[in-house]
Amino acid sequence: MRPISGANQHLFDRAGRVTPGGVNSPVRSFRSVGGTPYFVARAEGAHVWDVEGTRYLDYVQSYGASIHGHAHPPVIEAIRAAALQGTTYGAPTEGEVRLAEELVAGVEGLEQVRLVSSGTEAAMSAVRLARGATGRPRVVKFAGHYHGHADALLAAGGSGVANQGISGSAGVPPGAVADTVVAPFNVVPDLDETVAVVVVEPVGANMGVVAPEPGFLDELRAACDRVGALLLFDEVITGFRLCRGGAEQWYGVRPDLWCFGKVIGGGLPLGAFGGRADVMAELAPLGPVYQAGTLSGNPLATAAGLAALAELDTGAYQRLDAGATRLADGLETAVRGAGLAVQVPRVGPLLGVFFADAPVRDFVDAQAAAENGRYQAFFHGMLARGIALAPGPYEALFPSLAHSTQDIELTVAAAGEVAAELATTVG
Ligand SMILES: *Cc1c(COP(=O)(O)O)cnc(C)c1O
Repeated sequence: MRPISGANQHLFDRAGRVTPGGVNSPVRSFRSVGGTPYFVARAEGAHVWDVEGTRYLDYVQSYGASIHGHAHPPVIEAIRAAALQGTTYGAPTEGEVRLAEELVAGVEGLEQVRLVSSGTEAAMSAVRLARGATGRPRVVKFAGHYHGHADALLAAGGSGVANQGISGSAGVPPGAVADTVVAPFNVVPDLDETVAVVVVEPVGANMGVVAPEPGFLDELRAACDRVGALLLFDEVITGFRLCRGGAEQWYGVRPDLWCFGKVIGGGLPLGAFGGRADVMAELAPLGPVYQAGTLSGNPLATAAGLAALAELDTGAYQRLDAGATRLADGLETAVRGAGLAVQVPRVGPLLGVFFADAPVRDFVDAQAAAENGRYQAFFHGMLARGIALAPGPYEALFPSLAHSTQDIELTVAAAGEVAAELATTVG
C-alpha cells in the first residue's frame, strides 16, 4: 500500500463502520491509551511500518508470538513451502506429528499434546479435560491472570479484560462461572476435593509482569496434591520463551497439564494443550471428553511453528535474556533518573513496566499502578519517538531476537526523554 497521510484515521473510520470498535481484538483499539491506532502495512525484524509509512520499533511483536521478530526468513520460507502443498485437508499430516514431538521433547513430563488454533482454545479444552478426568466441577484461577476468553475463565481476567475495565464480561451467565473460584496471586488458596484444576500463569504476564514469589509454585503444587486437584500451567506466554522447557524448567515445578500458544505457532494461529498420557487418554477419540477442530494442526501453522522452534537453542535464549536484561536495566535507570517512580520486573526474557513506588505482587497492586495514567502518557511519548509499546498498561514488553543492542539503547534514550517530560507534568 502506498503511504497516505491520514490513512490510519481513514482506515479506523472505515473499520468502525463494519467492525465493532474498528478492531478484531479490543486492546488494539487504543481505548485504554486514547488516540487512533496505527494500521500496519508490513513488518520486518524488530520493526513495523504503518499505512502512512511511519516506522516503529515494535515491542508488541504480536504479544509474543513473533519471538524471532517479524517476517523471519526461515519461518516465511516454511510457510511458503507448506502453502504450495495445500492449506488444510481435514486429515492428519506429518507436520502435526513433528510439532507434537518437538513440544514433548522440549518439556519434561509433557507426554502428549493436542494441537488447537489459539491459546483460548487450549485453556478452554484443558479445563474441560481436567473436569472430565477428575469428575469434579471447580476451577481455581488467579485474579489478573488471563487464560483467553472461554466463559469459565473470564472472571477477573488480565490483559484486555483488565484494560477495558470489565471485571468479567457481559454475556457470561452466573452459571458459567458458578464453579470458578478467583484467588489472589501469590497466596496459596485453600482447596478441597471439589476442585478439578488450579490454573495459573506461572509468571503473570497479562497484568504487566508479576513473578511468582519464591516457593509459591511449589506450595501450590503441594496443595493440589493434598486434595487430588490437577495443576495447569498456562504457558501461552512463558512456554518456549523463558527457556526451552518453559516455566517448569525455570522454577522446577511440574504441573499435570500445560497450555501453549503464541511462540509455538511462529506467528500463525496455533495453540496446544497437553499433559501426562493417562490424563490425555480421557480425550476423544480414546476417552469421553470431546474436543475437535476443523483447522487444528493446520499445515501452515505447524510448518511455521517448527521453523520457529528449530532456531530456539540455548544461544537464542541467552541472547533474548541479555536483550531483556539490557532493556529492563536501562529503562529503570533512565526513568528513575528522570525522577519518576518505576518498577521494571523481569523474569529472564520477559519484562514489564509499572509506574509504581513499590514492587507489584498481585492484581490489586497492578491495577493501582496501571490506572494512575502514567503508562498512557509514557506510551504516547514513546510512540511519538517511533517506539511501539503495547497500547495498554497490563501487557508485557516483547523484545525479540531481532532487536539489536542499538535498538535497545535507542529505546532507553527515548524513555529517558519521555520520563523527563512526564516528571515536569506530574511534579
Ligand atoms: C494470549 C494468552 C491466552 C489466549 O491466547 P489467544 O491465542 O489470544 O486466544 C491465554 N493465556 C495466556 C497466558 C495468554 O497470554
